[in-house]
Formats: sequence, structure tokens, C-alpha cells
Amino acid sequence: MSYQSKSTDSFNTRLRFYLFEKVLKHKNAEFKPSLQEFMDFDLRDKEELIYKYTAEYYHKERNDSVDGVEIDKIYKFIKDSENKLKPRLEEWRVGYFIEVFSRILSKNQYEKLIKETECYYCNTSIEKIQELIEAGKIYKKNERGWNLEIDRKEPNQEYFYDNLVMACYWCNNAKTDEFTPDEFKPIGEAIGKVLRSRK
Ligand SMILES: [Zn+2]
Repeated sequence: MSYQSKSTDSFNTRLRFYLFEKVLKHKNAEFKPSLQEFMDFDLRDKEELIYKYTAEYYHKERNDSVDGVEIDKIYKFIKDSENKLKPRLEEWRVGYFIEVFSRILSKNQYEKLIKETECYYCNTSIEKIQELIEAGKIYKKNERGWNLEIDRKEPNQEYFYDNLVMACYWCNNAKTDEFTPDEFKPIGEAIGKVLRSRK
């Protein structure tokens, strides 16, 4: 987990939705991906697009359609665009890092975030997990030691600071992309209760 790798994750999220929107807008016509347009593409205004992608595109049959474009065609178009973009991808990624990522999550904000010592959802502390390990009460294998992981509250949004919290392995793993942060709160609380009750 590094600052740079989070920028790449964030970039991939924006790229996926940028291409998806392009396909829906241009239907079957050719389009030219534009770096400037990509830089200005703000996912925070795109709730409807995200909904179409997660709740429709991924759940319909291949010959069904979203906004009048066949799922199969959308898939192919995204793949083709990614291939066409390949020679310029590094330039795009670097541009995103400098012009977008460093603004939505500064290095200072990142450093501050990873210093958190408690899971946002279950409130279990790293110290408590360490205590449980020493008491032989943690069964998940982990040879590299325990750390909290960065979790995007809204997993289909980028890594802007307000969207990020630190979460323990169990919460992160259970939350997946399925639950909203509010829906997950009671589940996290239950996980924390169980973990802390181990003696
Ligand atoms: Zn947790």
C-alpha cells in the first residue's frame, strides 16, 4: 500500500467510468478519448452513471442493453478503447497523479490517514488485535503483521480524502462493494463486539 498505488487505483476507477460514459453517449460511433476531458471528468457528479454501471451493466444479460446500447457492445467498446489508449496510458496516469490525485488526497492527508489506529467501522484498535494475536485468538493467517487498510466508503468513487477511512481486515472483507457505509455500521459494530469479547 503506497501513496502512488492508491493514485493508480483511483485513476482506474475514473477511467472505467469515463469510458463507460463515453460509450453510452456516443452509442456505436467512434470517439477520441481526450486527456483534458478525462482530467475534468468529476465522478462526484455521476451518481446516476455509477448506478447504471453497478446495478444494471453488471446484472443484465449480454444481449440486454443500457441506455439503448447492448451490454456486449459496451463491453467490447471499453476493451477496444483501453487497447487504443495503451500507448498513452502512462502519460494519462502521470497527469492524473500530478493534476488530480495530489489535490483530492494530498501526501499530508494520506500520512494522517494511515496513522489511524482504530477501525472506522468496528472501532477495534490495532493494539487490541495485537493483544488477541498474543493470546492466540486470531486465526486469520497474516505473516506480515497487522495493519489497517484504506477503505473507500463509496467504493466506486475516487480516493478523495472525505471518502477514505481506515478499516480492519474483517470489516474491509465483509463490506466489499455491496454495503453503503451506513448499512455497514451495525455489521461493523457486531464484528467489533465479537472480536473484543474473545478472551
Ligand atoms: Zn473493523
